[in-house]
Amino acid sequence: MRLLDQPTLLSTGVYLQIPMKITLLDEAIVRSNEPEEVLTFKYKELGNRFILPWRKIKGKLRRLVLEKQRGLQIHADCALKDDLCMQCPTCFLFGGTGETSSARVPYNILSRVYGETFISTDKVKDITPYTANAVREQDLTTGQALLSILTVPKETIFCGVVTLKDPTPETVSIIVDNIGRLSRIGARSVEWGRVQTRIEGYYLSDRETLSAYLVLSNGAQPGLTGLPADQTIPTVDDAYRTLDGQVKTLINSLTGGN
Ligand SMILES: [Zn+2]
Repeated sequence: MRLLDQPTLLSTGVYLQIPMKITLLDEAIVRSNEPEEVLTFKYKELGNRFILPWRKIKGKLRRLVLEKQRGLQIHADCALKDDLCMQCPTCFLFGGTGETSSARVPYNILSRVYGETFISTDKVKDITPYTANAVREQDLTTGQALLSILTVPKETIFCGVVTLKDPTPETVSIIVDNIGRLSRIGARSVEWGRVQTRIEGYYLSDRETLSAYLVLSNGAQPGLTGLPADQTIPTVDDAYRTLDGQVKTLINSLTGGN
């Protein structure tokens, strides 16, 4: 199998899976009273594990990809939340909804970057839930709330897989470079320290085969490879510039240049 030469509008069923490990360099403290911040999960097979929700990793990765793009002066106006430009490399990779973006374009972009929950290789040892005064942000009044506090030990390792759909040399270059720049994972009520991210290898296939859950539960995983040796992966700066042009051509073909 090969990477696609050019990005496509419609999916062609090629998946580059990138299994990776995220190691905590510092201890992380999680204070949580919101369900969305829960960072442990009890698996039937794996027991209680620390987890990093994909949504958080994707959010961080998107932010990094966008920052780097801005540094290259490509669509420096594109901004998260409501100001997506809907025509830059970052929007092409991570998706967006035309109607809700201030760009008001008549199309949506589906994300080409998929992932899964990252799971710790070790089981959680102790969690201390306790009731505390929680301050409401809206009016600064206090009330009782169940808050749990939990320490994630340093050197905790999380396994997960990032999948790039319809990969081209340019999109691979951008995603791989920015995965390497993922050095901190934050959330509102979490004090995460620094992390180190390591790519384990690659797996190019017509389906999503790899999963951290499967690896952790039975250790089985097809042999990983490098990137296709006969295809040149451009430097990240060149990749952004080339993809920027390719995305514009694609969008023009979609909108008739209007
Ligand atoms: Zn954009």
